[in-house]
Amino acid sequence: MNAGSTVDTLLAQLIDAGRTAVRSGLVIASGGNLSVRLPGERIAVTARGTWLDRLDNASLSILDLDGNVVGGNPDPSSEWKLHQRTYHVRPDAESVIHLHPQTTVLLDALGEEIRLMTLDHAHWVRSIGRVPYNPNGSDELADTTAEQSRIHNCVIQAHHGCSCIGGDVAMALRRAMSLEQAAVATYQALLLGDRRTSFPSDAFATLNHA
Ligand SMILES: [Zn+2]
Repeated sequence: MNAGSTVDTLLAQLIDAGRTAVRSGLVIASGGNLSVRLPGERIAVTARGTWLDRLDNASLSILDLDGNVVGGNPDPSSEWKLHQRTYHVRPDAESVIHLHPQTTVLLDALGEEIRLMTLDHAHWVRSIGRVPYNPNGSDELADTTAEQSRIHNCVIQAHHGCSCIGGDVAMALRRAMSLEQAAVATYQALLLGDRRTSFPSDAFATLNHA
C-alpha cells in the first residue's frame, strides 16, 4: 500500500514501472500512461507524449482528484481522466497502469475472449472487464473504464489498450503483465486449435486473495 511512502519513493516506483513495461515488451515507447496515488488527495500521471522507458520526475504531472494540475509537468497525458475517474470509484486503488499491449488488443479486436490459463493468470488477473472503443482522452473512455473498474482490476479498452489497478505500482504492473501473458497463451492455444481450455472454474474458489 502507498500509505507511509514518500512522494519521491512513489514517483521512483512509477519511473521504474515505465522502464519495466517497455523492457518486457508490454508497450512500445509512449504507448500508454501510468499513475500513482500520492498523499494529500493527489495523483501523479505521466505527461503527454512521454516515452515510458525514459521517465524522470520532470515527465510526471501532479493532479488533484478534480483533475487540476497542481505541480510537476504542466501538460499531463491526454488520458489523465482515465486515471482520475478510476481513483474516484476505487478508493483502494493506489496505482493505475494503462498500456497498449499488442496481443491483448489484437485478440479482443478479433472477438476472442482472453482465457486465464495458469495459476498466475487466475491469481493476479482474476477477471477481465471490457469497454467498447471510444476516442482516447474522451470522457466516454474514462467513464466506461471507471465503471468496469468497479468490479474488475483489469479492463480492456477495445482497439486501444488496457487499464490495470493495484494496491501499489508493482501490483498494477504485475496484473498488466499477467493479462498480456494470458493473451499470448490464448493466442498460442488458438494456433494449436484449442478453443476451450482455461483455468478450472472450481479452482478459482481455492485461490488466496492477492
Ligand atoms: Zn491509451
